[in-house]
Formats: sequence, C-alpha cells, structure tokens
Amino acid sequence: MNALHAQPGKPRVAVHKFSSCDGCQLSLLNLGEALLELAERVELVHFAEAGPVDPEADVDIAFVEGSVSTQEDIERIRRIRAHSRVLIPIGACATSGGIQALRNRANGAEWVAQIYDHPEAIASLKHSTSIASHVKVDFELWGCPVSSQQMLAVVNSLLLGVAPHDNADKVCTECKRRNLTCVMVSRGIACMGPVTRAGCGALCPSLGRDCYGCYGPAENANTDALSAQFRRQGRTPQEIVWRFQSISNHAPVFLAAADKAGMKRDE
Ligand code: SF4
Ligand code: SF4
Repeated sequence: MNALHAQPGKPRVAVHKFSSCDGCQLSLLNLGEALLELAERVELVHFAEAGPVDPEADVDIAFVEGSVSTQEDIERIRRIRAHSRVLIPIGACATSGGIQALRNRANGAEWVAQIYDHPEAIASLKHSTSIASHVKVDFELWGCPVSSQQMLAVVNSLLLGVAPHDNADKVCTECKRRNLTCVMVSRGIACMGPVTRAGCGALCPSLGRDCYGCYGPAENANTDALSAQFRRQGRTPQEIVWRFQSISNHAPVFLAAADKAGMKRDE
C-alpha cells in the first residue's frame, strides 16, 4: 500500500456512496470530536453527507460504502478507482453485496413487480455485488455498520505509513477477552460468532443475544463444525441456511455454508 505520510500537503480523502443505507457514513460522522481532529490532518474533498461534494476529485484515500447495483454504478466505481491511490470498501454492502444481495439467489424481477407500479422504471442489475468484484481494492472494512474506531485506526495507520491491521480473528475471541458468558453454551442460542470476523467487540453477545454474522466470515471459519453444532441444537436445515444468509449473505464462505445446509445456488 502507498505511504501517504511521505506526500506533501494533507492527504485528500473522499467518502463515496453506492447502494446502501448510509449507516457506515454515519459511523464516520459519529466519531464526533475525533472526526474534527481528523479533519485537521486530512482534507475531506468529497463526503456528501458531511458537506463537501467533488466526486471526480483525485484523492489519496477513497472510502466506498454500498454495493454495485446498476450499470451506472459499474462505470462510477471504475472512475473512482482511477482517481484514488488507496481504495477501501466499508461495510457489509461494499464487501459482500449487503442485504440487497439476497436478490442474487431469488427472482428479483418478480419482487420489483410486486412492489412498484412501474417496475420498468427500476434499472437494477440482476445481482448486487461487492466493490472488489469490479475493481482492485487495497483493504476492506467489514460490518453493518463498520466500527468508527476501526475506520479511524485505518486512517491513522495510512497517515503513519504502515499497513492497517486486518483483524480476521473470530468474534468468540472478543467474547473471551471481555469475559462474556457464551450465549451458545449457556443458553443454546444459535450464535454465528465462531465463524464471524472480529472488530465489533462482541457487541451482540455483550447484550445477551446471538451474533448474526454482520462482520462477514473470519479467517479459517469452520462453518461445517458450526452447522453441525446448530443441528445438535435442533435447528432445521432452513433455519441454518437463514443463519448464513443474513447481512453478509453473499460472502463466498457463507454462500457455500448455506448451500451445504440445503439451499441451491441460483447463479
Ligand atoms: S457468545 Fe457467540 S461469539 Fe461469544 S463465545 Fe459464544 S459462540 Fe462465540
Ligand atoms: S456480534 Fe456479530 S452481528 Fe453483532 S455487531 Fe458483532 S459481528 Fe455484527
């Protein structure tokens, strides 16, 4: 990855939006004072939700929220790539297609016809896809939404000229570090933590509920073992499919696990 600290002037940063709910951009805004401090160290040249708008500007770091869902999106992400030294997709939509990728395995046209009076006005592609499906990316931040602290840590690393830390460990490790009682062991809840990428600080188990995999697959995720555990808990094949087909449904590891649990791929 390029060393931004060696460049003259402040590094230029853009935040772009594709098909998404804006939640990851809000994570950046939620940094509050830390965002104001960051704004002293970088030049925010495009971040429509915060004010500046210059989508075609040359930048050092481009954060990209959202999935690619239209032909215009494909052309736009290629232009952004050409204008950016470092490109970082942020969030479940940008890294795995998001909840809108559920249509990839369904008859999306039928859904559109059921919802809209004039379905011919909807120009979506058949599939919702990740940013990395279309252009080279330099790093990815997973989560729905991403963690503000993770975004800040990435920018700080890049400003210092070091590669950002990629935490691909499992949510379970964060439970152990926080001394949380395991909801799967203690209450028989179908938790996705054993196969999900860390970074949220085990947010859901800390509130007594299951992880539903929003940070996507962890490194070396043993989905076979987790599916077997879900079966021992009495979950039906369809319930296990739904576990893997949630926010990060189009991540290849979760797709394969859903297939094994009983669903046919429609691609
Ligand atoms: S609660 Fe979930 S994430 Fe935490 S240790 Fe248990 S299985 Fe892992
Ligand atoms: S515990 Fe799981 S579902 Fe909850 S925020 Fe973390 S990764 Fe997402």
